[in-house]
Amino acid sequence: MSDTDTPAILVIGGAGYIGSHTTLALAAAGYRTVVYDNFSTGHRDVCFGDALVEGDLHDRKKLAQTMRDHDIQAVVHFAALIEAGESVVDPLPFFENNVAGTLKLLGAMQDAGVGRLVFSSTAACYGNQSTGDLLDENLPRDPVNPYGHSKAMVEVVLETLAAAHGLNAIALRYFNASGADPEGRTGERHDPETHLIPLVIDAARGKRANIKIFGTDYDTDDGTCIRDYIHVNDLASGHVAAIDYLLKHNEVGFQAMNLGTGRGNSVREVIDAVRKMAGKDFPVVEEARREGDPAILVADAGRANEILGWQARYSNIDGIVRDAWNFAVKTDQ
Ligand code: UDP
Repeated sequence: MSDTDTPAILVIGGAGYIGSHTTLALAAAGYRTVVYDNFSTGHRDVCFGDALVEGDLHDRKKLAQTMRDHDIQAVVHFAALIEAGESVVDPLPFFENNVAGTLKLLGAMQDAGVGRLVFSSTAACYGNQSTGDLLDENLPRDPVNPYGHSKAMVEVVLETLAAAHGLNAIALRYFNASGADPEGRTGERHDPETHLIPLVIDAARGKRANIKIFGTDYDTDDGTCIRDYIHVNDLASGHVAAIDYLLKHNEVGFQAMNLGTGRGNSVREVIDAVRKMAGKDFPVVEEARREGDPAILVADAGRANEILGWQARYSNIDGIVRDAWNFAVKTDQ
């Protein structure tokens, strides 16, 4: 521990969307934070760590040195390529970064004697198994794209290391991350943007010609896909809860936990929420289904609630849209 006895957390990918919100939440919970990022997709203006180290996930030496320099007690790992569609077209970078890069990080943790990790995993581990029931962690991993495979592969590695030599690791499987810091300090800025909520907001603000609905013939009430939209601040508090847990318990082993709300919204409901926020209409174009989209993906969030005492608090669609809207206006994206 440091002289102040405040545990220090290394946030890999802390300049990104979920990483920047989590850094703020860790600081608010009283942790020291060190952001480590290569700025391939992150933004310098949202690095909120007590310290910043510019470095690559593949740099095992630098990672280990950073852990020693800052007396790191636990690592939160966000640095990943995330576009599922892109992963189908060009899979190799997803395995190079998300799998091989994470192996370097795990090596560095061994080198520096750090044994606690919170890993950004994904609902994509479930693939197309949804029957409309809530998805729980007892389902087998069955990803349907290289992005999902890259995350599921790391989960297997973590499970194996936990069994072999006592790594304590929690994989948080995110559902649809959305919204922004209510105070506007950070928010969603992907380039290119492919996620529904920022795209609908762009259409409403006249930044794009229309919003396309990918499929209106699904077996849902209004024919459009249903997703579990979770406010990024709820994701951030999930990471804080996981860190708290890892610091309090010595034999956690490997655990996968959903971070979701247990409720879903359809694409049309999201568009309606943005229409309400904007106070005006905008063009909506109905298109064919996007390949690989299951009709309904909604989390059973019972395990994170039971083990971590965590639950979503900010995640209603109007609040998510309001915070995302305010951030888009503030940064004039
Ligand atoms: N979607 C859509 N139009 C868009 C982008 C997304 O209709 O321009 C739909 C997509 O088919 C899915 C939902 O919105 O049903 C959420 O998609 P997103 O890419 O935001 O997240 P995903 O659930 O794919 O991780």
